[in-house]
Amino acid sequence: MPAAVNWHDRAAALAFDGRILINGQRRSSASGESFDKHSPIDGRLLGAVARGGAADVDDAVASARAAFDDGRWAGKPPAVRKRLMLRWADKILAAKDELALLETLDMGKPIQYSLAVDVPSAARCIAWYAEAVDKVYDEIAPTGSNALALIVREPMGVVGAIVPWNYPMIMAAWKLGPAIAAGNSVVLKPSEKSPYTAMRLAELAVEAGIPPGVFNVVPGYGHEAGEALALHMDVDAIGFTGSTRTGRRMLEYSGRSNLKRVYNELGGKSAFVVFDDFADLGRAARTVAGSMFFNQGESCNAPSRILVHGSIADEFTALLAAETPKYPPGDPLEPGTELGALVDETQLRTVLGYIQAGRDEGAQLVVGGRQVRQDSGGFYVEPTVFAGVANGMKIAREEIFGPVTAVIPFADEAEAIRLANNSSYGLQASVWSDNINRAHRVARALRAGTVHVNQYDEDDITVPFGGYKQSGNGRDKSLHAFDKYTELKTTWVRIDKA
Ligand code: NAD
Repeated sequence: MPAAVNWHDRAAALAFDGRILINGQRRSSASGESFDKHSPIDGRLLGAVARGGAADVDDAVASARAAFDDGRWAGKPPAVRKRLMLRWADKILAAKDELALLETLDMGKPIQYSLAVDVPSAARCIAWYAEAVDKVYDEIAPTGSNALALIVREPMGVVGAIVPWNYPMIMAAWKLGPAIAAGNSVVLKPSEKSPYTAMRLAELAVEAGIPPGVFNVVPGYGHEAGEALALHMDVDAIGFTGSTRTGRRMLEYSGRSNLKRVYNELGGKSAFVVFDDFADLGRAARTVAGSMFFNQGESCNAPSRILVHGSIADEFTALLAAETPKYPPGDPLEPGTELGALVDETQLRTVLGYIQAGRDEGAQLVVGGRQVRQDSGGFYVEPTVFAGVANGMKIAREEIFGPVTAVIPFADEAEAIRLANNSSYGLQASVWSDNINRAHRVARALRAGTVHVNQYDEDDITVPFGGYKQSGNGRDKSLHAFDKYTELKTTWVRIDKA
């Protein structure tokens, strides 16, 4: 048996390079400024990260524009782009341990999941779009015989990608895969809370043979590098994932600049609806716990509103309460840890503030609710379940983005649908019923981009991901994501009679 990896030792030997990457070259910010990045695991200093600003964004966009205009990437046959991107995906997998460790130290998720989920998912996403790009055909319109109308998809040009910290590599890959496969050049602005893997992904792209300038990274703060990118007059589209608050700004930036396309993937408050005709309540409770406490609850699609028929609410709450302690917060570098650290002290305060709000508004705190592991120097909160929650309470309306869920009783099917849809968000939902008609009926009535029936875990790059209402617009993943990063062009050709 191979010796178990000691991730603490590996972490101590890891190199952190927080510099900008433009045109394949690492460099400091134009201002010379940087900021210190600490790990949420134990507060250790990871290193200095370049504080990218408008001048750096200008350089990155100029590099991306030059790469696009001279055709070094967009001009390559799709089969060649495919080959180079597949090589890139292989390099990501080959660097699995390093990337997983960077991700875990940067934002606090357990190493076992960085290894098993984040790195392979990012690589699979890049490989999937690579494989797709020489298999999607354009169209010929059914016009009269005197003309030919060709409808082709063309890359947009320069795409700005602005991503959050909860799944830094996966969220970046969801933009990079379709945007780069389609022939665009990209400037990526990672979150200031999780910048490290982005620059490594870009270095690996260059090593794989993707030309310098096609994929540039400018780390920095949202209101500096992010704003400069979203306001830039030479950026054709923004692929944004983050909070609804920042998503609103993206639309404003577009309106104030060049009307660039804006695709927002935003927050969620997903409803998990359990009817009294569903027999296996234990499986439903296990699924809530597994999905809700995964990634410390820092998931846009976390099932954070559990709507349960009143007649089974107590039984279901007891089952969920029994599952919850199976996710004790622990050291993310230990292989068995299920629940890691929250991303930073601000997020810790936010989550604890919501727990207090739940108490203040009269919800019943069933299990959890406390900050733990303070001695570690990191930011840990117990997995937490509230019961007897009303849909109007703050903990039922606002995205907490931590390991806190709320059980809300309902009286009948009509009320379940009304409560589930009574949210400004519409990212995901789930219905649990052994009545096939009810399951389909409710699935159709739920206003969400993805609806699960009797499960919550299925996910694949082959299906679109995105939300209704204030959860965003456009879709990541699947072939539909090409819509975001391509323009449709019609070319009319006259055909003269003989
Ligand atoms: P955030 O909106 O604070 O930040 C996201 C990104 O935007 C970061 O890179 C940040 O630096 C940048 N940014 C912040 N302010 C900016 C500004 N004024 N101008 C330009 N850029 C700015 O979000 P977050 O806290 O990093 O991420 C959590 C949010 O992301 C949650 O709401 C979560 O639901 C959402 N999310 C959505 C999806 C999805 O696919 N729908 C997936 C993951 C996360």
